[in-house]
Amino acid sequence: MAEVVLERVTKIYPGDIKAVDDVSLVINDREFIVLVGPSGCGKSTTLRMVAGLEDITAGTIRIGDTVVNNVAPKDRNIAMVFQNYALYPHMTVYKNMAFGLMLRRQYGSWDNPLGILFGGGKYKKAREERKEIDRRIRAAAEMLGIQDLLNRRPKALSGGQRQRVAVGRAIVREPKAFLFDEPLSNLDAKLRIETRAELKRLHRRVQTTTIYVTHDQEEAMTLGDRVVVMKDGVIHQVGTPFEVYERPVNRFVASFVGTPPMNFFEGRLVRVGDKLVFDEGDNQLALCDAHQQRLSSFVDQPLIMGVRPETLLPATDAESGAALSVAVDVVEPLGERMDVFVSTARHGHIVCRIDARTPIEEGGRMDIRVDMERAHFFEPTDDGRNISTASYPPAAKVM
Ligand code: ADP
Repeated sequence: MAEVVLERVTKIYPGDIKAVDDVSLVINDREFIVLVGPSGCGKSTTLRMVAGLEDITAGTIRIGDTVVNNVAPKDRNIAMVFQNYALYPHMTVYKNMAFGLMLRRQYGSWDNPLGILFGGGKYKKAREERKEIDRRIRAAAEMLGIQDLLNRRPKALSGGQRQRVAVGRAIVREPKAFLFDEPLSNLDAKLRIETRAELKRLHRRVQTTTIYVTHDQEEAMTLGDRVVVMKDGVIHQVGTPFEVYERPVNRFVASFVGTPPMNFFEGRLVRVGDKLVFDEGDNQLALCDAHQQRLSSFVDQPLIMGVRPETLLPATDAESGAALSVAVDVVEPLGERMDVFVSTARHGHIVCRIDARTPIEEGGRMDIRVDMERAHFFEPTDDGRNISTASYPPAAKVM
């Protein structure tokens, strides 16, 4: 097991396509880290550079104590699981799992009847090697619940079972790190959720450093000890799932993480009496105490307020202050909760996630209370920085 360190790694493909741009990242020993971002953000390229399947244009990648920039993939001691599993169709599950280890055997050439005659002690060692491979395969099969499938060929397996065999083949190698590239994409929704939980249990058990790539933010949030949010070849934020959800560093991260996504309101900060208030156009919302101080230098500037759907709740009559007056457009019941789509005169398609028992009528009007302590304020651009978190302004970079 090992830590994996990327230092200022860049990848430029022919045609001057910058897929990964000056990425630095430390993946701790035993950590499960997930690279997530929209399609084309450079996450697979990053993973493939760690695996050695793509050359690095600039920068350094270290696995454990070894700089691997010029180390062949087979010598990096990592195991990769792909979306399409890439199992050998003519081999049984057992042989698929054994294949990589058989190739790497030290005494393999003595493992035959002639070895007894001419190999001396080497025949014994070859047999021990084979036994060790068998032990690893049976242990991994048991861990994954595929003991009964060892004699089957891949075509006689379901998608979920094939996926497990692919993971099993990675486990038996006992590598320094696991690399997963969208391994659940080919599974149906239910199986994806089950397999997700299994991968997490498995990681608890084997504790191998894991780098996992997905475009699905929910998968990233459920699996990762930490999540790396990427866009356009650049890392925007690295943090625990809670951190990236509750304290997104910019508007891109805020909008990418969470379903339904965060609601955004264009407006400006104004001073009313001695209080700072966000003016949405038709509604004025008083900032909470912490934001009053932090945002005082942004008065009269255009800003974007971001609020998560679960922080918008129907206001009771007694409440005043931070409330929005909205029209109710559509109600989507989700069992226990419902998503209510509302609009103000200036902002459409605002979603509130509220208790399904709340009496609400489509086509009516209502007042919505905004939990202003959980509101975020962003500079008014697509990737505008979050100016309301304690980490703003960012500390100067020390090179
Ligand atoms: P992701 O995995 O996040 O979807 P990729 O790492 O596959 O993104 O790709 C990042 C960028 O690099 C994209 O713009 C993609 O089109 C480009 N790219 C990926 N592979 C190649 C390649 N072999 N040649 C040229 N461009 C590539």
